[in-house]
Amino acid sequence: MNKSKLKNLMDNFCCSNCKSDFEEESLTIVREEAGLIVVQISCQNCGKSFGIALLGVSELDIKEPVPFEMEDCPDKISCDDVIDAHNFIKNLDENWQKYLPK
Ligand SMILES: [Zn+2]
Repeated sequence: MNKSKLKNLMDNFCCSNCKSDFEEESLTIVREEAGLIVVQISCQNCGKSFGIALLGVSELDIKEPVPFEMEDCPDKISCDDVIDAHNFIKNLDENWQKYLPK
């Protein structure tokens, strides 16, 4: 996965602590699976950690970024986005094990 593409996804978010935009360096790819990318997010400006984000992807392009346990800027993200993420996680639970490293 192209990291700059991931970075583009992060343009919708910013650090809730210092309001800095996330940079490519803010993203660490933890795991990459077919249809799913797990990234660790931390602010490069103030060092605040935002935990893990799960990104649902297709082979060609990222269909829909799915933020998880991520503090959001109220002016940049809607409540619906957060609820969608929670639903995604809830649906993922049953098959979550297969995404874990063996
Ligand atoms: Zn920050």
